[in-house]
Amino acid sequence: MTGRCVKMAFRNLLGSLGRQSKSSRPLKTTFAPVLPTVAPSSSSPFLFSTSARAGSTAPVTGMLRQSRNGHQKATSSDLAVLGVAILVGYMGGSTLPAEQSPAHVDKKKEEEVNQLLNKIRRVESQSRRVPAPSPSVDVVLGSQWGDEGKGKLVDILSAEYDVVARVAGGSNAGHTIYVDGRKYKFHLVPSGILNPKAVCVIGNGVVVHVPQLITELQELEAQAIDFRGRLLISDRAHIVFDFHQMVDGYNEDSLGRNKIGTTKKGIGPAYASKINRVGLRFGDLRDWDDFETRFRALVSSIEARYPRLKIDVEEQLAYYRDIRPILLPLIRDTIEFTNAAFDSGKKVLVEGANATMLDIDFGTYPYVTSSNPSIGSVCTGLGIAPNKLGEIIGTVKSYCTRVGEGPFPTELLDAQGDELRNLGAEFGTTTGRPRRCGWLDIPQLRYSCLVNGFTSLNLTKLDVLDGLKEIQIGVRYLYAGKEVESMPSSLRVLSELEVEYESIPGWEQSLAKCRTFEELPPQARAYVKRIEELVGVPVRWIGVGPGRLDVIDRGEGYTLEVKGVNRRQF
Ligand code: GDP
Repeated sequence: MTGRCVKMAFRNLLGSLGRQSKSSRPLKTTFAPVLPTVAPSSSSPFLFSTSARAGSTAPVTGMLRQSRNGHQKATSSDLAVLGVAILVGYMGGSTLPAEQSPAHVDKKKEEEVNQLLNKIRRVESQSRRVPAPSPSVDVVLGSQWGDEGKGKLVDILSAEYDVVARVAGGSNAGHTIYVDGRKYKFHLVPSGILNPKAVCVIGNGVVVHVPQLITELQELEAQAIDFRGRLLISDRAHIVFDFHQMVDGYNEDSLGRNKIGTTKKGIGPAYASKINRVGLRFGDLRDWDDFETRFRALVSSIEARYPRLKIDVEEQLAYYRDIRPILLPLIRDTIEFTNAAFDSGKKVLVEGANATMLDIDFGTYPYVTSSNPSIGSVCTGLGIAPNKLGEIIGTVKSYCTRVGEGPFPTELLDAQGDELRNLGAEFGTTTGRPRRCGWLDIPQLRYSCLVNGFTSLNLTKLDVLDGLKEIQIGVRYLYAGKEVESMPSSLRVLSELEVEYESIPGWEQSLAKCRTFEELPPQARAYVKRIEELVGVPVRWIGVGPGRLDVIDRGEGYTLEVKGVNRRQF
């Protein structure tokens, strides 16, 4: 693209960065139900002036209706108290006399009470969707091979966070989020951008392809999402140049059958420039002469290594010269910014990209990405000290998928694998490639819990298993007739080991409408509980559909009674 074209193409964008668009439409992102102010009744602390009439569910539905109009937020305990009040009101008095205890209520009334209880649980579940303020940096990570559905949880949580950050990887990652029937795809911009309150940070550990970033910003603009002043790029983040992408493609093609299966987005070569200490960072754009000199040196080093590559140096320099005015206002010392935000009590959420089994250190090397998508990158890719970390949430798909090459112990190469792929729409966000599918892999998940120290799990896509008669869980690795005690580093062992499975009956019904754990069919509850038992980490969130609201939240502080469980028994 010539400098003139760049100017034309980004004139609107540049304009929009500097002015407030009248067409911008605020997004609804707060999920905590909001209630009218409820005053305690003078006659009883459990009765409110808005108390329920016997035999009516109006207060609950009314409460939900009013939540859309935006009044006062209710906490879980408000709701619990209100729930008691509604029940007390429903039972016809301020206290429960012995003759009106549930044992004496006729069958029909008991059913109605149960229905009401379920509604209260749903409202409580809604209120739990956001964590209480905590002086910590909370993290959402992928625990398998990526595409677990991290973006959806980040989107839900970000309503309550002030800063949402990416810390590693680049446009090789991709999140798909559905809001109000609209589909949003992000590769570089943190999904938190959908929350008008959040500032989004692209941390120093991320590598950024500028044309891709500009495309995403233009898409946001087209969707009337106002990102002005809400997107910051670390001055230490490295730039992915077009020639890095060319090198990526060249390397993959030259590996032939041994190719890694990269997305060819130039991520590996950009990190290679970083590690070789010849890369260029966003902060370098502040001094154009220096940028130009170092850019020419970088191109020379790449051309020396890849003589067949044709790089148009002047065209590239013209592009960056023209794009500078757009980028400079976004470039910040994000280490200072994020820590200052933390110190002033702001809540910080880190949005993981890729996943632990693709980590260059912990994954199935060399079939991995070029960064550390596990917990360590939060410190090295954002400049946050480990003692500031709080909740570390591992996102786990209810089965396993993998894109690209490399070992995958529980992979299904038969019709069952095809069925999971179709049911789960398992095609890559970034490349559209069909994902390899298999059963949930417990040894792999335990390893991921070990490396990351997950405090809770976000189990996604449970609904994809809706129609299955039977579900398998891979519970043990066996190699040469012996149990494998830890995650093998050897690709040969990983490819040749056998997996022992445990069979769980399916629920064979839709989970789409379930909003509380109790509403799940018993078999689905058993599946979730078995996962908790096997890995020893509580499953707090359960995904029952692609939409923002299709999730069960078992509540803040949800803990698992796993004390005394000897995990090796399984
Ligand atoms: P990410 O990179 O980890 O965020 O994952 P992707 O965005 O690549 O893939 C997640 C896909 O799964 C998206 O299309 C989501 O809308 C979808 N998804 C997330 N959670 C659920 C769920 O619980 N059920 C279903 N059916 N789809 C889900």
